[in-house]
Amino acid sequence: MAIYVYAENINGIYKKAAFEAVSYAKAIADQQGDTVTAITINPTDASDLLYKYGASNVINVKDEGLKSFSAKAYAEAVAQLLDGKIIVFPHTTDASSIAPMLSVMKGFALITNVLEAPESVQPFQVKRRAFSGKGVMHAKADIDGVIVTVSQNAFGVKENATQGSEEIKNLSVANEDTKVLSHEQSSGQLDLKEAEIVVSAGRGMKGPENWGMIEDLAGVLGAATACSKPVSDIGWRPHSEHVGQTGKAIAPNLYIAVGISGAIQHLAGVNSSKTIVVVNSDAEAPFFKSADYGVVGDAFQIIPELTQKIKALKG
Ligand SMILES: Cc1cc2nc3c(=O)[nH]c(=O)nc-3n(C[C@H](O)[C@H](O)[C@H](O)COP(=O)(O)OP(=O)(O)OC[C@H]3O[C@@H](n4cnc5c(N)ncnc54)[C@H](O)[C@@H]3O)c2cc1C
Repeated sequence: MAIYVYAENINGIYKKAAFEAVSYAKAIADQQGDTVTAITINPTDASDLLYKYGASNVINVKDEGLKSFSAKAYAEAVAQLLDGKIIVFPHTTDASSIAPMLSVMKGFALITNVLEAPESVQPFQVKRRAFSGKGVMHAKADIDGVIVTVSQNAFGVKENATQGSEEIKNLSVANEDTKVLSHEQSSGQLDLKEAEIVVSAGRGMKGPENWGMIEDLAGVLGAATACSKPVSDIGWRPHSEHVGQTGKAIAPNLYIAVGISGAIQHLAGVNSSKTIVVVNSDAEAPFFKSADYGVVGDAFQIIPELTQKIKALKG
């Protein structure tokens, strides 16, 4: 029985998280001597992109009614097509709202935020992130059907080129319960949750007029920009950049925090980052306790200099 994966796309374009979920499904399939079937809704990208990471069958759903996102309608579409006992989702905002609905519809176990390939497939047991990233736990499903969501940037995208084929499925799922009233697009070029490097800043920047240096540093590093909660609350930066317990949870390879004190609610959203660099003028700032590298000093001096040094190094 194939291992299924939901390959998320935004406006038809596959997200990096979709490739990571396919890579994860392929790892399970390899443990089981099985194949991977991907389900995707209204993509414009070619299925070749999914074969590259190990999907050997792509079910490409065409449904005009699913042009706007609704967790319930998307879960119904996936439920109609799912013909296996294991399905993998990325832990994105949209996919992690489809997964619980599907879990109820199919009576499957749901294990969210998994970090590694399963320790065992039958029964399904896996390490997952817990307590807002402050701990890990080993979760075991005690029923046969399992849905997992893969924590972004935890397992990684792994190329595993496979000969694939595509099936087009015309569905017409009722999508009446949800109406999208507004949709806030992130201002940066890069999707914050998918970014490998994030440059983030807090109230230590003193005002929105000083964000140019943060954007310049992000620019030379190819990074996304983020901010602390008060910064977005007072309107210095858009809410789409707010990270933490009440904002986005991210796990980039490198998180650079500038003028952020490191309150526990901020850390809850960023402490899964692989490497944390903190720049703060106060040597006693709590963030230094969670930092891999710390610089005590004035951000207004350090950040432009750092940007220049990186530019010179690249040049
Ligand atoms: C229920 C709840 C949920 C919350 N959720 C979140 C959340 O999701 N995300 C979040 O971020 N916060 C959240 N908070 C708020 C959190 O508790 C902190 O108040 C907030 O993170 C502080 O933001 P900050 O670090 O930008 O500001 P501050 O705490 O004011 O820190 C500013 C820092 O900048 C440093 N600084 C000042 N000048 C310079 C300079 N020239 N150079 C370098 N450093 C300088 C200072 O030393 C200081 O450490 C939440 C709070 C509650 C109660």
